[in-house]
Amino acid sequence: MESIYNLSEDDFKLYLNNLGEKPFRAKQLIEWIYRHKITSFDEITNMKKDFIEKLKSDFVIDSLECVKLQESSDGTKKFLFRLHDGNLIESVLMVNEYGYSVCVTSEVGCNMGCAFCASGLKKKIRNLETSEIVLQIFMVERLANIKVTNIVIMGIGEPFDNYDNVIRFLRIVNNPLGFEIGARHITVSTCGLVPKIYEYSDFDLQVNLAISLHAPNDEIRNELMPINKTYNISTLIEAIKYYIEKTNRRVTIEYILLKGINDSMACANELCDLLHGLNVYVNLIPYNEVIEKPFKRSNQSDMRIFFDVLKKRRINVQLRKEQGSDIDAACGQLRSKQMKKEGLWGEK
Ligand code: SF4
Repeated sequence: MESIYNLSEDDFKLYLNNLGEKPFRAKQLIEWIYRHKITSFDEITNMKKDFIEKLKSDFVIDSLECVKLQESSDGTKKFLFRLHDGNLIESVLMVNEYGYSVCVTSEVGCNMGCAFCASGLKKKIRNLETSEIVLQIFMVERLANIKVTNIVIMGIGEPFDNYDNVIRFLRIVNNPLGFEIGARHITVSTCGLVPKIYEYSDFDLQVNLAISLHAPNDEIRNELMPINKTYNISTLIEAIKYYIEKTNRRVTIEYILLKGINDSMACANELCDLLHGLNVYVNLIPYNEVIEKPFKRSNQSDMRIFFDVLKKRRINVQLRKEQGSDIDAACGQLRSKQMKKEGLWGEK
């Protein structure tokens, strides 16, 4: 049976229309589901009994099982959830000065194969349903007893590889009767699926875009991120320019600093040349080492020098504050540990 959390307001309207019900019921249903957080359709008090029975026969109000919750001394919480088919996904709650930010997963595994990434250790098994992305927010709010204010789609998976479900998720969390999270408080991060960046630029919600760049030239990026062999840096920069032109929004450039790979002064200068004149904000990220990967975190001093070069050359930049470093901080690490424990690691 279909999860009720799969439906956007437009989907509800279509469903109601097919039943000959009034469209205003869509708003009422959204309020019951997201404001009153009903766990049974029987809790709905302002609709006819036979319509409630119809809802019961068509949809399920489902949930995610929380398998593990790790809490860091800085307040970061990492959740491991089990889906209805047994697959495992992660979500992370971060406490910031501006509120509560959740990083959600968009796919079970990932096919992008970035060389440094724990999430990509296992190939993609399937896309997440919209409901399974929505439920991560729902569950985090319930388990941590907070109201989420910001969302980043930067967890396991490449969101643009599950484009339609992610777009429906954005509409649901942005709905003023639902989670009511402003588009400007939501960021989708891609490793660089260029055609989808163009499509996303024309999307009617003003949601933010982050690009996982991680290298200043094709030579290094080809080694780190296989996607670069399909869409190289200049193609990617053209798409970023298009997004900026269409949306008038600043793009975040994610750059993980890897010791001896992409953290030299020459790399910093090359990155400045590449980004010169673009409305971007560079997020320099200390690498969370992964046991299965050979990469090392850059030295503190090298990270500082890299940061200073960008700053001096007037690139908007921050050296990301570490969050959750005393728990399994790398994205995908908690999932891989649990899969090993359950004997699922050897399977495809
Ligand atoms: S960094 Fe992102 S896109 Fe690359 S393998 Fe990991 S999850 Fe996939």
